[in-house]
Order: sequence, then structure tokens, then C-alpha cells
Amino acid sequence: MNRVSRVLVFSLGFAGAAAAQARKSTWADAVLTDLDTKAPGYATTAKQIWGFAEVGYQEEKSSALLQDRLRSAGFSIEAGVGEMPTAFVASYGSGKPVIAIVGEFDALPGLSQDAVPMRKVLVEGGPGHGCGHHLFGTAAAAAAISVKDWLAQGKRPGTIRFYGTPAEEGGGGKIYMVRAGVFKDVDAVVSWHPGDLNQVTRATTLANNSAKFRFHGVSAHAAAAPDQGRSALDGVEAMNAMVNLMREHVPQEARIHYIITSGGKAPNVVPDFAEVYYYARHSDMRVLDGIWERILNAAKGAALGTGTTMDFELVNSVYNVLPNDALADVMQGALERVGGYAYSPDEKAFAEKIRPSLTGTLPPMDETTRVTPPETGVSPGSTDMGDLSWVVPTVQLSAATWVPGTPAHSWQAVAAGGMSIGSKGMMVAAKTMALTAIELFSNPAHLPKARAEFDKRLGGFVYQSRVGDRKPPLDYRR
Ligand SMILES: [Zn+2]
Ligand SMILES: [Zn+2]
Repeated sequence: MNRVSRVLVFSLGFAGAAAAQARKSTWADAVLTDLDTKAPGYATTAKQIWGFAEVGYQEEKSSALLQDRLRSAGFSIEAGVGEMPTAFVASYGSGKPVIAIVGEFDALPGLSQDAVPMRKVLVEGGPGHGCGHHLFGTAAAAAAISVKDWLAQGKRPGTIRFYGTPAEEGGGGKIYMVRAGVFKDVDAVVSWHPGDLNQVTRATTLANNSAKFRFHGVSAHAAAAPDQGRSALDGVEAMNAMVNLMREHVPQEARIHYIITSGGKAPNVVPDFAEVYYYARHSDMRVLDGIWERILNAAKGAALGTGTTMDFELVNSVYNVLPNDALADVMQGALERVGGYAYSPDEKAFAEKIRPSLTGTLPPMDETTRVTPPETGVSPGSTDMGDLSWVVPTVQLSAATWVPGTPAHSWQAVAAGGMSIGSKGMMVAAKTMALTAIELFSNPAHLPKARAEFDKRLGGFVYQSRVGDRKPPLDYRR
């Protein structure tokens, strides 16, 4: 190739890249404008779900509302997937690639709170959206609808799906959806979680096993005939003592916590039944497997030593999240384009009232206006997104739906999530997910790259759910 033709090819290539960039600016601007226009409607949807505050596997109204929105936008709906009445898949388009956007909508027990900047319970002992899943589901639906509108223009082939995933808070809806095979043909999962910063997630999470250990003894009069009795509570206490000793001999980043859910009815009756509910966590499921086996042995040993019997029910088991940098790079570009948002004077006043109730080192109040550098390392929570991320390359972001410094599962999260701070943050997430998904459809290089990284991280490991053939625990909140 002579110099003249080289220059010509270079300038043509440059002109092509510039034209592609201009086209991208046009579609991205159109998507962002469209989402701005629809933002008030989505804020209303989110507020309705916030008001329903339905806990895991009881999210009938929340699930139905999101299904309605997606159906009227042109999606076809398959409801009740994976033997879970509130789980659904909404689809639009045909063929490859298949991009999934995932949405949650369950609330937390005992976190009822009004949308005001001080502690004010709405329903005594009632549930509340302390993890912002009303925003999670709504933003995900908003993004999916935007992507559908873009696909409908017929520029690219492919399928966009919204997955309505119930009972994230301990019920593991996604695990059973994975098991039902509904993610089998998916090329990438795009998702988010409410938070107090605008940030792409490159971190893993904690794998988490939970189980209820039930001890059975013999009741007797605690004073007149204690020798006739065998205390089920002794079984629980012996198990707890052994597990507490074990803490010194597990990797120190492991987390083990329990509550005694039944310890007898009266001190003068030897309890014939007692139950303890355990969580154990570690950032690598393979390490957690070993810790879990020792906890089971402690339970068996406790029963043997106290003359009781023990059985246990595995309530949930989620993997740690497998990050994907190739997808995170795409999402980072999208989030930087979307940017953060500023508070209105009313929102600023609300945030200033909330801030003194928060503890620890607080990020600056105006952190919502920025994109915070990506989260890396281990995020000290657990999610059933973990299982999904071991079967499909997955990417997530966090968006500032709560006042900076607010922890999840707090009344402050319920409060901000129920007003405009929550809905503004939600739209940052909706826009970022929409731009991310459209970029994945537009540029055929991203998905093979994400898949290659996924395979490399897996290193031949074959994912297998730790819940086995267990039915979804539809009654775990009853
Ligand atoms: Zn949560
Ligand atoms: Zn959550």
C-alpha cells in the first residue's frame, strides 16, 4: 500500500468512526430524553410499589403492576416461572443477542417508615422498602422499555428481556429461575442496586448459606422431674457454643450470625422443641462449603451430647457475585455519560435532616452529583444475583437513591426511597442500564469479550446450586 492510499484508508476509517460516534450520540440523546419525559410516570409506579411494601413471594400487586407496564409497552409476558407465582419474564424481539435486565420488588419485614426525614413508623411492625427494591424493579422496567423502543426501530436484531425476580431478601428467587433454565440463552445480564453513590460495581459479594436447625427433646417438669426431660434448648445452646468457639478457626473474613427463633415456652417446662436460624458467609463459595460442613457437624454433635435429635432446613444459599470487567467497562462509559444529579432545595433540606441520624464516616453530601470510582474487592453483602453471575456474564451499578452515608435496610433508606431523591437516583440507573444494553446490541465486539472473560474466571468450575431440588420457599416470610 503506498502512502497516498494509506492516508486515504486512514481518513476513511476516521470518518467512519466519527460517523459512528455521531450516530451513537443521536440515539443516546434520544434514549435519555425519552426517559426524562417518562420519569414522572415511573416515579408514580415506584411509589405505588413502595406503598404495597410486599415481602418475599407475596409481591402479587408489585409483580402485577410491573407486568402491566411491560405488557402495555409491547412485551409478551410469561408469569409464574420457576414455580413462583410472582416471578415472570417479559420479552420483546427475536433472535440473538439476548440481553436481560433484572428487576426486584420485595420489601423487608419490620421496616415500615414514612417518607419523612425522621423516624416515623407508618404501620407498627409492618414491612418497608429498606433495600429500595421498589426502585430496583421500576428502573429495570424503564430501561427494558427504552431498549425495546430502540430495537423497534429495526436497526439491530435481538431480544430484550425483563426478568421479574421475587424474594431477593432471603428467598433466593433468582436461584430457582436459574434452575428453571429461563436464563439459558441469555448473553449478558444488566442490573443495578439502589445505594448512596453512583458507581459501577466491579466487586464480588459474600456467598451466603442459611438454615434453620431444629432440635427435638422431651418435655418434663423442670423442678419435679428434670431427669425425665431432654432440653431441645440445650441442643441449640450447645451448637451455638461450638460454633462460637469455631470462629477463631475459620478465615477471619468469614461471617457467622444466628438468632434463636424458638427457645421453649416457659422456664418450668423442659423445652421439647427449639430452633436456631443461622447465616454463614464468605466471599468464595468453595471456602464457605468447608465452613458450612463444620457448622452442620456442630449441630449433629450438639444433638448427640444433649440427648436430643436434630434436623435442619436449608433456607437459602447464594453464591458470591462473579464480576465481569468487559461489561463493567461498557457500563462505566454509560454511567459517565448519564452523570449524577443535584438536589432541589427541598431535597437538600430533607437530606440535611437525615444526615445527623447517620453514623460512621459520611461521604460528602454532594456525592450524588458525581460518578464515584468503581467499587472493587468484596462488598460485604449477599445477593441471589450471585448465582446468576455464575451462569451468565453480569454487570451491575449502584445509583444514589439514598442520602450519602445511608446504609441499606435502614429507615433512612425507606424514607429517601419514598420521595424524589429515590426516584431521581432511580432514573440514573434506568438511563445507565438502557445505554449499556443498547451499546451491547450495537457493538458486536463486547459480548464475545465478556464471554471469554467469564469462561476464564470460571476456570472450568461447574456451577451447581447449593439448594439442590428444594422447592422455592414460598412461605419463608409467613
Ligand atoms: Zn437487602
Ligand atoms: Zn437489595
